[in-house]
Amino acid sequence: MFGLRTQIYLKRLKGIVVFSEGFVKFLKSKDNSNHLNVMEKVEHIGIAVRSLTDAIPKYEQLLGTPCYKTEEVASEQVRTAFFKQGESKIELLESMSPDGVIAQFIEKRGEGLHHIAFAVSDIRAEMEKKKADGFQLLNAEPKTGADNKLVCFIHPKSAGGVLVELCQERNDE
Ligand code: ZN
Repeated sequence: MFGLRTQIYLKRLKGIVVFSEGFVKFLKSKDNSNHLNVMEKVEHIGIAVRSLTDAIPKYEQLLGTPCYKTEEVASEQVRTAFFKQGESKIELLESMSPDGVIAQFIEKRGEGLHHIAFAVSDIRAEMEKKKADGFQLLNAEPKTGADNKLVCFIHPKSAGGVLVELCQERNDE
């Protein structure tokens, strides 16, 4: 039904979700430190694509679930599309300009896995903790992201090569 590469890709994607969920459980199990129990769950996985028009039907097929929302985040120069996968989501990201961060990412590394986002209940407190623990934050203040979230990114250089997003529901801001 799907090409071999697509099947391998889907397998890898599932592996990443399972790994990330396991990692959060592991962190929660080591509950003896306040540093280690605040990344609540994998909120979403961000994937860079050249074209949402092309990617949305492909991912609907791949994931077996419809895209339920698209949204422009003008400040980040991205168009996003969301899919629900159980407790987590998949976020597709398309650049709105030829020199946007997603366009640059694709130019360097091609389409594919871009970031892993973790839900936090207090993003400012979490940013302070991460900074104190030596992680390099890419923004000093929480930014408005897609999907009604406040977000902050951690540089992949300080996080094992993975671009990590902290995100908090905006209700109380
Ligand atoms: Zn994201």
